[in-house]
Amino acid sequence: MNAEEASGLGDRAEAMIDALAAASDDPGRLTRLYLTPAHRRAADMVAGWMAEAGLAVRMDAAATVHGFLPAGIEGPRAGKRLLIGSHIDTVVDAGRYDGNFGVVAGILAVEALRSRGIALPFGIEVLAFGDEEGVRFPKTLISSSTIAGALDETVLDMMDADETTVRQALVAFGCDPAALPREAYRRADVVGYLEVHIEQGPVLDRTNEPLAVVSAIASQGRYHVRIRGDAGHAGTVPMAVRHDALAAAAEVIAMIEEIALKGARASLVATVGAITVRPGAVNVIPGAAEMSLDVRAADDAGRDAAVAEIRNRVRQIGARRGVVVGIETVHEKPVAVAAQRLTRALATAIRTVTGAEPRALMSGAGHDGQAMIHLTDIGMMFVRCRAGISHNPVESVSVEDMGLAVEALVRTIVALAGEGAVS
Ligand SMILES: [Zn+2]
Repeated sequence: MNAEEASGLGDRAEAMIDALAAASDDPGRLTRLYLTPAHRRAADMVAGWMAEAGLAVRMDAAATVHGFLPAGIEGPRAGKRLLIGSHIDTVVDAGRYDGNFGVVAGILAVEALRSRGIALPFGIEVLAFGDEEGVRFPKTLISSSTIAGALDETVLDMMDADETTVRQALVAFGCDPAALPREAYRRADVVGYLEVHIEQGPVLDRTNEPLAVVSAIASQGRYHVRIRGDAGHAGTVPMAVRHDALAAAAEVIAMIEEIALKGARASLVATVGAITVRPGAVNVIPGAAEMSLDVRAADDAGRDAAVAEIRNRVRQIGARRGVVVGIETVHEKPVAVAAQRLTRALATAIRTVTGAEPRALMSGAGHDGQAMIHLTDIGMMFVRCRAGISHNPVESVSVEDMGLAVEALVRTIVALAGEGAVS
């Protein structure tokens, strides 16, 4: 590979990432939630780059920016398009590369294909989704679900913290919620979906590898655990007759960790990330506790088994302590397995640019591919990020790795074009 060319691509990516990072709704830190003024600025910037790269640009009813390049070669696949996307929304006080680099990589890859005079037998469409993180509204993947034809329209009535509904926010952004069903693509019109994303974990940094192929996006479930005991005077109620909801919650949390540690080989992870206690006073025995539970695994069966064991043990803890315990399912997303024809093309491309066989990683984090798999085959490439840190302002990806990722994406596209590509 031409090293100079790849590092040139990395420099371009870094400049675009810098520009996007300035589009924030919080002074001094990066926060860009769905359908906010910062989202508008980032979308406009992306649309401008797409137009400069020679793509036909439009914004759809869910505020996704589309940049389309028609096929350059006549043939049976000329009416189809290969989708390449990621998201431009961020978490609060975010890093600069999560999602954003995938969009930048897509634009730079198309630009490189054009400048190298490579004509493709199918169209390419770069997508900048606006809602992957699900921070503003209690729902994720609204934008990719729209294209995949998998949008649950009850989402439109969900509200943010200021009681603005998704519907109102879309209208204020200039989008037409009534047009959402018409944005769904047809399976027959799509070649596949590719996404480049930072790993957001420490494996590649530890193994000193720049790129990896994603084998699957983990099976994921979110649950709400409620524990009801009896509040009482912290000084007068003897220990033996207490029904302390928080003490029960502590035992439940330790039990969940124990189950997850046991399942570590099946990539099982379980996290209690939030807890509230009532009444929450120094001299009152806690009467109620509520907590979140997030469980992920390499397959649906592994997740289901872990959740079933947690439910069972929670019942035992509740019975022994005389507290009422309930676990409510918030949502469950099945594992999204990457398509072999796409992972093969990605692996070959990565091998060509890095000179080494790439490892296959499961993504513990959720991605737009979980929605896009309802439409078409998905394939993902991971890029090393420093110390595996993400969702954090110190998130960092090297210019060299970004250049390699864009070059590998270009070669993946050329491989998928197969015989039809003229280089
Ligand atoms: Zn992301």
